[in-house]
Amino acid sequence: MAAPAHTMPAATGQAQTYGNYIGGEWRPAASGETFEDRSPANTDDLVGRFASSAKEDVEAAVAAAAEAADGWRRTSAVARANILHKAAEILASRQEQVGRELTREEGKTLKEGIGETGRAVQILRYFAGEAQQPSGEHYPSMNPLTLLYTVREPLGVVGVITPWNFPIAIPAWKIAPALAFGNTVVFKPASLTPLCAVRLVEALAEAGLPPGVLNLVTGSAGAVGDPLVRDPRIAGVTFTGSNAVGADLRKIAAETGAKLQLELGGKNPAIVLADADLDHALAHVVSGAMMSTGQKCTATSRAIVDRSIAAAFTERLVEKVKALKVGDPLQAETQIGPVISEDSAERIAGEVDAARQSGANLLAGGDRPSENGHGRGHFVAPTLFGDVDPASKLGQEELFGPVLGVIPVDGMDEALAVANTVRFGLSASLFTRDLGKALTFAREIQAGVVHVNSETPGAEPHVPFGGMKGSSSYSREQGKAARDFFTQTKTVYIDPPPA
Ligand code: NAP
Repeated sequence: MAAPAHTMPAATGQAQTYGNYIGGEWRPAASGETFEDRSPANTDDLVGRFASSAKEDVEAAVAAAAEAADGWRRTSAVARANILHKAAEILASRQEQVGRELTREEGKTLKEGIGETGRAVQILRYFAGEAQQPSGEHYPSMNPLTLLYTVREPLGVVGVITPWNFPIAIPAWKIAPALAFGNTVVFKPASLTPLCAVRLVEALAEAGLPPGVLNLVTGSAGAVGDPLVRDPRIAGVTFTGSNAVGADLRKIAAETGAKLQLELGGKNPAIVLADADLDHALAHVVSGAMMSTGQKCTATSRAIVDRSIAAAFTERLVEKVKALKVGDPLQAETQIGPVISEDSAERIAGEVDAARQSGANLLAGGDRPSENGHGRGHFVAPTLFGDVDPASKLGQEELFGPVLGVIPVDGMDEALAVANTVRFGLSASLFTRDLGKALTFAREIQAGVVHVNSETPGAEPHVPFGGMKGSSSYSREQGKAARDFFTQTKTVYIDPPPA
């Protein structure tokens, strides 16, 4: 692929510098400042330099989005769909390269990086189709001559704020529906993964989005995120990230009146009953807990296991967790890459130590590998605890790393009670051969995404996604549900003029 127009030509071995995308132009931050993006697998690897933006850049981006809003709202849904289709094809043609950059920037394995880029392509294609679906309903009226119908209209300018853990899929599943349904966007990606954001915006810009319809502003939470959510021209904010930031955004949105969508953390259980296929359950619990280095919001962090099989199941879990290959995520044989940052690695290691000191039973991992060059990355060994107290911090709080705790229980009722006794409710799995228990689980579990005999992270892009309780703001992303957030309803009564 040719170097994009906004990159500064780099001498061999030097990292490129990437700008903001505002009003259809790639440009540096007004201050000219940049920040560095380094690979979490090896901090000697400088991925790029990005615009270190501030309030004035946000203001320029919101102004561009506000100016473009009427034109985009009036653009036919078919024309919008065509642009999304074209962006999907552009990104698909770069899937391998962007997937590799994702791995370098975020640290998940190459297979996952390329897979996630493919997911973004799928999402763009899905919303190209969804743009052309019915956007309202026709109703009978009390007056037989009245044409009475509803139509879903865009909100206006939407602020999109995304985390680093799915650095291209999450932006795609917010930005694609926002655009498909006629909104203009100001996008602030996570500071740890700005390159994926640039690659997504490039594909959409090259596909022919008019200037101002999509704007990218990179920079810190305080300098970019905060002014963005406080801007009175922002009609809606869609945010995925931590509960602490989500709580702050609720207060700000209450003041500005912006529509707010929050997708937050999880403490996701996988219940394994005595009648489950244990080989199958083991594979799914390990993969659900450890892939992407445990940094999926839907990752399994509690294995709630029937006491009659808990010892045997845990013994096999220990073997599997110890056998996971930790290393350079760009190498094909690697199963577990680094966590995203040194802060994260230290936080997770600190929580593991605290759990150990309060008597939790450490069965595997718990350390920070430093051999084979791992010392230059943010590595945390896949970690397993046995006999976890469900009320302990380890049993209650999201660690967001490769850490799994086994909680033995006596039967289905206790399993469900333990699974539900957390403030989160994002995803949950049950492993069983008993159809009655599967139905009970689907009915009683407090989670927005429910799996029977498959791992907690599974999520297809064409169905609603989101959590219950503290895991979201009761709204859903993806699938047909996406229209609910990105539009508002207008009810229209048309009577004929008096004869
Ligand atoms: P985070 O620290 O809350 O940051 C998320 C995004 O918000 C980043 O772009 C961040 O910018 C920005 N931000 C932070 N403070 C802000 C503020 N005061 N105002 C405006 N923007 C602000 O979360 P994270 O560490 O990136 O992500 C991990 C969390 O996301 C986990 O809890 C995980 O469970 C959750 N998650 C949830 C889902 C879901 O669908 N439910 C999916 C994925 C992840 P900077 O990067 O510049 O700090």
